[in-house]
Amino acid sequence: MSETENLTNESIADAVHAWLDANWNADLSLREWREILVDGGWATPHWPQAFFGRDFNQEQSAVVSKIFNQRGIVPVAQTGPRRLAAETILAMGNDDQKRRYLRPILTGEHSWCQLFSEPGSGSDLAGLSTKAEMIDGQWIVNGQKVWNTSAHHADFGVLVARTDFDLPKHQGISYFLIDMRQPGVEVRQLKQMNGHASFNEVFLTDAVVAANNLVGGEGNGWAVAKTTLSYERRMGGVTRSFGGLRGKRQGRVYDEYAQEVRIANEPYTWYPQRQGRVDLVLPRAQQTGAIQDPAVRQEMAKLICMSKGAMLASEAAEAKRKSGSNELVPAGSIGKLAASVIARQAAHVHTMISGADAMRSGPESAEEGMVAEVLVSVPAISIAGGTDEIQRNIIAERVLGMPTETRADTGPFRDIKRND
Ligand SMILES: Cc1cc2nc3c(=O)[nH]c(=O)nc-3n(C[C@H](O)[C@H](O)[C@H](O)COP(=O)(O)OP(=O)(O)OC[C@H]3O[C@@H](n4cnc5c(N)ncnc54)[C@H](O)[C@@H]3O)c2cc1C
Repeated sequence: MSETENLTNESIADAVHAWLDANWNADLSLREWREILVDGGWATPHWPQAFFGRDFNQEQSAVVSKIFNQRGIVPVAQTGPRRLAAETILAMGNDDQKRRYLRPILTGEHSWCQLFSEPGSGSDLAGLSTKAEMIDGQWIVNGQKVWNTSAHHADFGVLVARTDFDLPKHQGISYFLIDMRQPGVEVRQLKQMNGHASFNEVFLTDAVVAANNLVGGEGNGWAVAKTTLSYERRMGGVTRSFGGLRGKRQGRVYDEYAQEVRIANEPYTWYPQRQGRVDLVLPRAQQTGAIQDPAVRQEMAKLICMSKGAMLASEAAEAKRKSGSNELVPAGSIGKLAASVIARQAAHVHTMISGADAMRSGPESAEEGMVAEVLVSVPAISIAGGTDEIQRNIIAERVLGMPTETRADTGPFRDIKRND
């Protein structure tokens, strides 16, 4: 039994309060405060003691989070894809990588992006053709990535690239940590149909990755990428904390935290809309009188039951995880698929309620254009982090144990027919 398993919730709470009484100071800069927090081991208490944590289990960590929330303590940086990078490095990186990268992720010094998708490989991520070659002791990367959220303000990226074209496609991939601030990395923003610009194309031309920034060993990139994707599917909204703890609190740390959240969350302001804004449905039905229509009521009831059911299922999955279960992929895939179905039903109900008005934007339109934004944002939830069809394949094959898809792409990658 580890030494932390004996700690009671009361003793943990006492220790957290005592530590905060001695260390918390809202007049520090954000960086100064986070360095103290990270080094104190209270930022990520569920992480290992050797790397900024305390080996706490979920229940013990929840005690810490609750006190932080109650006291309005500013946490470590969690916005954007940086936590996906952190969890992957923690799970699959070597000690040197953990030492170099985890601390600046937590303090907010470095922001990250995810360089996975390519014009010719999204769902079929293992079909990627960005190439990394070892030349004179460093990796030289050439290729193009696309749909990379937040890449326009990222310092580093988690990158998958092909290091061997003669092996079958899943085996020739390696996983890298790449410095985005170098001449060989060109980032171009893309404009979406909902008016936002969250994504980028990233062009890699002789971009350099140091030899010791390969994660998990050469040719093991697929296993490492699956770790990132499991966290992405499971964490969903967790990666985008909107930090509403300021209230009336004053101090430099709050000012700088608010500024950080504003910049980092700019690409995600439409994310609540892509989930369908179920919260707006009942008030809008009441306000417009559509609640009197039995057909609207029927579809609303369906939506609210599905939404409630998904919430309960996610709580059940969380409870299972707390009890030590490691079933990341199936729980994440089912939850992600449910979120898509709910978002689509929400868009359907919003359309029934608002009619043609749902297409208008501007101050006099439904919810000042919010309903229109819902309708053009909802399709994204069925695509990001793995499409609905891919989640169905995962559930069929890994949860239900059904036969796997017939594959025509098993030989050397070089010989597979593709459209690039
Ligand atoms: C909001 C958002 C954020 C994103 N952020 C990032 C990011 O930060 N980093 C990053 O690298 N990428 C990101 N992406 C890209 C995303 O991962 C890809 O869009 C996704 O994997 C789908 O790939 P694709 O767009 O190439 O579609 P395709 O793979 O070309 O799919 C086209 C259609 O074919 C279907 N299909 C494909 N294969 C199968 C199959 N085997 N069986 C049945 N149907 C199939 C798909 O379901 C889909 O309907 C993001 C996307 C969105 C929408």
